Amino acid sequence: MAEKLTQLRALRPTIPVHSSCLRSEDFKTYLVPKGKARTLNGETTEEFSKLWKNQFPYSHTYPVPSGRYALWYFLEHCQFEVGAEVLIAAYNYYVIVRMLVQKGLKPVFVDIDPATLSIDTADMERKVSTKTCMVLVTHMFGIPADMNTIHGFCTEHKIKLFEDCAHALGSTHETTQVGHLADGALFSFGIAKITNTFGGGMLVMKPSFAANFLLPVHKHSSPVAHFDSFIRFLITLISLPPCYSWLMAPLTRLGDALAEKGHTTLRNFVAPSKNDTGYSFESGKRPAYKNFMTSMQARQLARLGSNIQRRIQIAAIIKTAIEPISHLHSLDENTFGEWNGSYLGVYADDKMAFAKYLRMQGISCNTQEFFDCSRLAQFSEFAADCPNAAYASDHLVRLPNYPSLSEMEVLHIVRTIGGFNS
Ligand SMILES: *Cc1c(COP(=O)(O)O)cnc(C)c1O
Repeated sequence: MAEKLTQLRALRPTIPVHSSCLRSEDFKTYLVPKGKARTLNGETTEEFSKLWKNQFPYSHTYPVPSGRYALWYFLEHCQFEVGAEVLIAAYNYYVIVRMLVQKGLKPVFVDIDPATLSIDTADMERKVSTKTCMVLVTHMFGIPADMNTIHGFCTEHKIKLFEDCAHALGSTHETTQVGHLADGALFSFGIAKITNTFGGGMLVMKPSFAANFLLPVHKHSSPVAHFDSFIRFLITLISLPPCYSWLMAPLTRLGDALAEKGHTTLRNFVAPSKNDTGYSFESGKRPAYKNFMTSMQARQLARLGSNIQRRIQIAAIIKTAIEPISHLHSLDENTFGEWNGSYLGVYADDKMAFAKYLRMQGISCNTQEFFDCSRLAQFSEFAADCPNAAYASDHLVRLPNYPSLSEMEVLHIVRTIGGFNS
């Protein structure tokens, strides 16, 4: 109550933690698509690979219904033996771990490097066994992982390498887009990612490995799936700053309240749970990658460089404010490559106190972006001790740093952080 009053008094709309950097032309591309076919055919697959030639001159690129399908198709192509082990960072998106388990594979949780949030290569080397078939590396928050060490390790052990680049479009390893070293990589163009085409994703594959790979023909089963992009369009719309405070934020609160009473539909709609014990991957759930997504992506790729530049600039300003605060600790985003600024994370000694303080000042943040999966009840069979991943789960807070923040908003964030000393 007190919290609400303070906000009302300030009459300040809430700054969302994430906002898609879309322009009205992007919405137009969606609403008035050029070309006849709205679903993908051979022709648009070609258009798709052409679009990605700059980022991936040597790899094959395939459009997929959403990022996770890339991993699914890759695993189907690999045909690993049941029970084979996959080395994966414990601080992760539970869906990815679920998919490994669903495929009959055994996730072996590896701790993370706390400064870059990606797999700790020393722990990875300790956990390799004769059953290891793959390393799944995530460029968490868009922060490049130690690809030289990981790639060398996979070559030495003759195991596959998969890169989760869902956050890492525009992040580079030795000046090249991450994802180019792996046998397979996934990219996501969902509504919360650095480019948003209201769904869709990409599978990137090394040519030698893609030689006898055929992109599966995608069939989706639900008639409701036709509205998939439209729903994502609506969620994007009501998440934009002018609508966020008055529509999205109350909807999220209502969704949370209903979820507490066991009604999870609304919550899962506006803010899907980050630890859903009932999740299983069903390939018929999402509609196919659509034609309009390619032109929408092209527009966003054309300004990705300036988008990233601004994100990094804002992150640097915010990190300067964080530095003198003894309860807050920044990450080191550029240790193994160049970060794209897609998610700005900060460690807070008391995460909840910091989040509450920010909220009172009209700044949203996210206190539970991902979890230490090695500690989740749903993966208890694979439990491991990963103290750095546990620390990230308990202390990491995500802050807003998207390009559409105004100078005034950035200043407000900086001043607010500067005043945090509880
Ligand atoms: C978003 C995301 C994915 C893929 O998500 P889709 O919703 O299937 O596009 C994979 N890994 C991480 C870490 C993600 O954040």
